[in-house]
Amino acid sequence: MTAPQKALLKLGLARDIDLALHLPLRYEDETRIVKLRDAREGDHAQIEATVTACEVSYRPRRQLLVTVDDGSDTCVLRFFNFYPSQQKALAVGTRVRARGELKGGFLGWTMMHPSFRPAGGDLPTALTPVYSTVAGLPQAYLRRAVLGGLARADLSDTFVPEIAHQPGRHKPWLLRDALQFLHHPTPDVPLAALEDRSHPAWQRLKAEELLAQQLSQLQSKRERDRLKAPPLGAAPGGLHEQLLAVLPFALTAAQRRVGEEIARDLLRAVPMHRLLQGDVGSGKTVVAALAAAIAIDTGWQCALMAPTEILAEQHFRKLIGWLEPLLAPRGLRVAWLTGSQKKKERTAMAALVQSGEAALVVGTHAVIQDQVEFKNLALAIIDEQHRFGVAQRLALRGKMREEGYEPHLLMMSATPIPRTLAMSYYADLDVSTIDELPPGRTPVVTKVISEQRRDDIIERIRAQVAEGRQVYWVCPLIEESEALDLTNATQTHEALSAALPGVMVGLLHSRMPQAEKKAVMSLFTSGQMGVLVSTTVIEVGVDVPNASLMVIEHAERFGLSQLHQLRGRVGRGAAASACVLLYSTGDGPRLGETARARLKAMAETNDGFEIARRDLDIRGPGEFLGARQSGAPLLRFADLATDSELLEWARHAAPLMLDRYPEKARQHAERWLGGKSEYLKA
Ligand code: ADP
Ligand code: MG
Repeated sequence: MTAPQKALLKLGLARDIDLALHLPLRYEDETRIVKLRDAREGDHAQIEATVTACEVSYRPRRQLLVTVDDGSDTCVLRFFNFYPSQQKALAVGTRVRARGELKGGFLGWTMMHPSFRPAGGDLPTALTPVYSTVAGLPQAYLRRAVLGGLARADLSDTFVPEIAHQPGRHKPWLLRDALQFLHHPTPDVPLAALEDRSHPAWQRLKAEELLAQQLSQLQSKRERDRLKAPPLGAAPGGLHEQLLAVLPFALTAAQRRVGEEIARDLLRAVPMHRLLQGDVGSGKTVVAALAAAIAIDTGWQCALMAPTEILAEQHFRKLIGWLEPLLAPRGLRVAWLTGSQKKKERTAMAALVQSGEAALVVGTHAVIQDQVEFKNLALAIIDEQHRFGVAQRLALRGKMREEGYEPHLLMMSATPIPRTLAMSYYADLDVSTIDELPPGRTPVVTKVISEQRRDDIIERIRAQVAEGRQVYWVCPLIEESEALDLTNATQTHEALSAALPGVMVGLLHSRMPQAEKKAVMSLFTSGQMGVLVSTTVIEVGVDVPNASLMVIEHAERFGLSQLHQLRGRVGRGAAASACVLLYSTGDGPRLGETARARLKAMAETNDGFEIARRDLDIRGPGEFLGARQSGAPLLRFADLATDSELLEWARHAAPLMLDRYPEKARQHAERWLGGKSEYLKA
């Protein structure tokens, strides 16, 4: 397979239909030439001009400066990375066609890294699509691939007549027409209608997408409604009561309320399907433990899972400390199941699970692997549920011995989704929300600071460590390349080690062997290590109350909720804590507007729900629920805040289609969700 082919797969563009549905991020208008005199600041413009100067400058850093004149005004084209061949192509006297974002300024117009080619030749008649891509997949290759996919894919209509009239002012478009148009719109369309996705072609795609999503949800709901689950209730004087009694604190009102919501679900003979959401540090683990106690009280097993081994251990160590002494007199135990376990230990643990002696099973995904057999699993609790895929949830269902039974399912998430949104979107999910933090937390002070002040930060770290405190330094996540993440973390680790003699500086990243990770973590947890440099592996769950400073490098590259979760790692003790968001402006003079708004939101509030709301304002819920948070986009095109009418339409259309046109319904879900559909797997 060639590199671009691999990259296509990485983007999830395997089938022709996937390519056809990979819609442009934006468009470039190469259909016309703009005169500089008529241009406005920030325009993405195409100009045709003659090169009047071409020189390499070394201040502030090596760059190629090319001055061009189009007869109406001049413009400087700046290149930080350039090849001699490009320099030659931009020799004085050449006429070029250049395209890029125009910035005005003290010295007149500039374009940073414009694309350019020799002047002349026909202008295209349609707008040029720009697709989101990854490293190793050139735009031109992707364009050809999409064009091919579009030509080959089956785009026959799945909207049956009863549902064909989706809401909106416009005459509905057919899928084929909508896709052809959106990939290659004619230049006379107002770009605004494409950008805000109000164009009828967009409406059609959003309707399609929402219908697929609702079909999938509805199908899985119907599936589950047919299943039974064992009713679970706390025994008087039993484990649930005992656990409450040994807790070193009183539950918050919110914890009590959600605990009751869960207990009510567990009493029913249909499987619970509930999302427990609450801010970082709001105390979800205890609520989970109390639910587990109810299951165990009733004589069943409970499984508790986190996405990684470190997290599983961090999350549940305390909980087990409370539960184990209560289980022992009953002849019951807690079993650990993780991928890195020695075979012998694993076999022993698996035996405990199979015999039922292990009433509580804690671990990673390993818990639901094929070899593990439960005696009678009745409750599965999944922390950070957005990292668990549909496949894993289905595997869990397979752990129920009795046919037609399914375990109760409790998913926990620290990435809050506004409740109303969650309710209409997740047709089949109940939501409990912990909206209150335990008392006595010191709020974390957040500062947004330019990367250029790195030295000041290092001073601050030195001071913190001198006071016996500990520091996290989180390195950026670069989506395209894990290898780059690693280089960056390694370099930072070296630089900090050199700058902080006498301080133990550790490094933690996802590629390290499990044993090494554990060793580093335990040095940090025990307080011997002053500074921990890491990639995002500490994103959730690490609990070191003595850590009082967190530095997040390239904070502008993180999602808001991710930043919030990271920040939740400090401020866990009594000491005043701080979080420093280091930003870098790259080649530009300042941070983009969205990035600035996001970092500002972080500095202004510590409330996870408020942050989620702002995230929603800044980015819209499509993205909010989407890829950046979860790794698997839920909605790519529709926007739940503005497309509520379409969502209503889809909620109405889905049952009708499922009942009367099951084959068309299947075809539709397959087209949109492919292997990702619960509908198809159920
Ligand atoms: P999260 O919701 O992020 O998973 P945890 O369950 O890890 O939060 O709880 C964070 C910390 O707060 C833990 O140390 C936990 O023991 C403690 N905690 C939980 N509930 C309370 C409470 N009601 N009062 C005081 N501390 C609590
Ligand atoms: Mg937690």
